[in-house]
Amino acid sequence: MCGSDSFSEMACFRGQSIRFKNQSFKYGRCDRCRSIVCLDEIPDNVYQDYPTTGRTSVFCIWRMLRFFKKLKVDKEDSILDFGCGSGALLTALKTKGFTNIHGYEPHNKKYSGTLKGGQKYNLVYSTYVFEHLFNFDDFFADLDRATKSGSRVFVICDTATRIPKLDPACLYQRCSIHAPFHTVLPSDDAVTGMFLKKGYRLAQFFPYDVQRSGLIFNNRVIAIFLDRLGDTKDKLISATWREQVLCLLKSPFSFFNALLIDTKDPLTSSFVFTKV
Ligand SMILES: [Zn+2]
Repeated sequence: MCGSDSFSEMACFRGQSIRFKNQSFKYGRCDRCRSIVCLDEIPDNVYQDYPTTGRTSVFCIWRMLRFFKKLKVDKEDSILDFGCGSGALLTALKTKGFTNIHGYEPHNKKYSGTLKGGQKYNLVYSTYVFEHLFNFDDFFADLDRATKSGSRVFVICDTATRIPKLDPACLYQRCSIHAPFHTVLPSDDAVTGMFLKKGYRLAQFFPYDVQRSGLIFNNRVIAIFLDRLGDTKDKLISATWREQVLCLLKSPFSFFNALLIDTKDPLTSSFVFTKV
């Protein structure tokens, strides 16, 4: 993230998909910017067979809508979902009345050509994209093509800032580090510093994910499900209702706490930047 190659703390995290379940990957914390970086070479075609879901929770959509309202985003505003994956979230927002919403995803043919038109957007949002990047210069070059002075960029990503000590036994850390798919967990300062260098000023900051924090459906609940269902994303997204209920019954206290009390995930951050 910052160009330094001096790492203090290091730990090995087990792969979080069926394909990488029996491998572990070394992560270390940068001495200078405090970001956590994957130090092992990330396998070629890492995303071949990557388990993804085409659905978005109604709770996420509802919180996203509430946050858009807070940002005073109009339904006619031009909006870009940057790194939209399968396009699940933007499709859901479209059905909620956002008429001018588009998606960009270099790894999905349907959405890979979006930036060619040269359209500039009022709001660009990017959820859980940063951690997967190999090249931040490419990211900012693409972002610049989609933004103009005054455009807002809303970023949600995992953060290294509130991981006190690397601990592979901690289920929240395993979920957040998501080995070997996350190349980096940037620190909050690293994210803000990088955006500032590229001409974006920080307007708002929240030390949690505004979309996946709150009662019932949140990152803490997801992390517990992931752990109890065998610690692979494949299993998490293919789990039946029966399997989910069994997990709940086996750890009622952990779930009660994550569903209703400890609902904010400190291992994520939300940022709103304004292009100068
Ligand atoms: Zn660094």
